Amino acid sequence: MTATQPGRIPCPACSQPLALPIEAVLTGQAIACAGCGLELTAQRETSHEALNALGRWYEETAEARTTAASGQASAAAGQTAKASRRVTRPRR
Ligand SMILES: [Zn+2]
Repeated sequence: MTATQPGRIPCPACSQPLALPIEAVLTGQAIACAGCGLELTAQRETSHEALNALGRWYEETAEARTTAASGQASAAAGQTAKASRRVTRPRR
């Protein structure tokens, strides 16, 4: 098996590759394994160096990600507009 890909770790319980969203790691959110449902939380204290390196990588790739996410952002804005239209307002 090759080295762990960036953004992916093997699940400690079932060894399935887990997608590791950088945002979740940096904010300390739990990540659920799709294979066995195990919830993983980054240990911010013990993986301080790794998180620092990850943070640097995250900043370096932020520009490319922003470009890719701009389309998603407008799609999300459309959904928000749709959702707000569904809200029933009380009549005055
Ligand atoms: Zn698992």
